[in-house]
Amino acid sequence: MVDNKIKEILDGTSFSGEIKFNEPMPAHTSLRIGGPAEIMLFPEDPLSLKNALLAARGEDVSVTVIGAGTNLLVGDGGIEGITISLKALKNMGFTGETDEERAVLYAGAGAPLAGLLNFAQKNGYAGLEALAGIPGFFGGAVYMNAGSFGMEIKDVVVSVAVMNLKGELSILKKDELGFSYRSSNLSDDLIVLSANITLKKDSPEAIAGRMKEFLRRKKDTQPLGEPSAGCVFRNPEGDAAGRLIDAAGCKGMRTGDVEVSAVHANYFINKGGATCKDFIGLMEKVRTRVREHSGIILEPEIKIVGTI
Ligand SMILES: Cc1cc2nc3c(=O)[nH]c(=O)nc-3n(C[C@H](O)[C@H](O)[C@H](O)COP(=O)(O)OP(=O)(O)OC[C@H]3O[C@@H](n4cnc5c(N)ncnc54)[C@H](O)[C@@H]3O)c2cc1C
Repeated sequence: MVDNKIKEILDGTSFSGEIKFNEPMPAHTSLRIGGPAEIMLFPEDPLSLKNALLAARGEDVSVTVIGAGTNLLVGDGGIEGITISLKALKNMGFTGETDEERAVLYAGAGAPLAGLLNFAQKNGYAGLEALAGIPGFFGGAVYMNAGSFGMEIKDVVVSVAVMNLKGELSILKKDELGFSYRSSNLSDDLIVLSANITLKKDSPEAIAGRMKEFLRRKKDTQPLGEPSAGCVFRNPEGDAAGRLIDAAGCKGMRTGDVEVSAVHANYFINKGGATCKDFIGLMEKVRTRVREHSGIILEPEIKIVGTI
């Protein structure tokens, strides 16, 4: 069996971190949907990640990297091969490149985005406030170029440390990353290990005030307390997917246990026992309705992994 073989290989290397078999993915996604990950690894350092990647390569096993699973739909058939979570790589701090106006901070891919916002605020560095309320890890935010209220991660990123599937490290500068709306040219073959960001000095009170205001605006317009994966569809040029879905009369539409949120139409909620099949069924229904109503074809923003 491939799982035992991988474990055997990893036991013979300096792999530090948890190894789990048949790990239920609802525990690792905000939607609480999906079958199990065949093998799930939680490397505690870059060398352990490298050893895991080499073991996967040697055994010709597929690799899937996830963050906090807040933009992720996992197939009901689960994820074959190795699923890697970098939640242990959560260190953050200052790089030392600081002057009177600005500082460069680093954070590991597994650092919770909210934790990074709080760290920056407490130390009096501004620039991330508009991201208040976005769940997930820093690595996922970089990969997705997460953003809100007109601000995106790309606005503060200086460079990103990545590892390819052969375990080779490189540092990519911001202009090599091809950031655009909710995407970058980071391919599935590149794993974000950490990134440096530049922030501007400001008073902790002023920053906290702005974070609070952005969070309030988010809470007023988005169903933050319910199991979702954030926006399901990308905003088409010059319009908002939520507005189009609402205008097509889809609010409250349901397939199985997945429902279009009444608060924000681009959020689909798991009402209890939803499956990936339900979710994709509802995505198709909504796409069809929107196309019939406005002629616009919506494209998914969420990432779908595993066997549907
Ligand atoms: C209630 C709610 C509100 C949200 N609001 C917003 C919002 O306002 N703006 C916004 O942009 N998003 C929003 N999101 C979506 C989501 O939180 C962001 O996209 C977030 O940045 C995803 O991070 P994650 O760690 O959860 O990534 P995941 O969902 O785990 O992964 C997303 C993608 O990134 C890849 N990935 C993750 N980590 C790495 C890594 N280290 N290296 C390489 N690839 C990686 C995965 O393979 C996958 O393709 C919201 C989600 C929810 C549930």
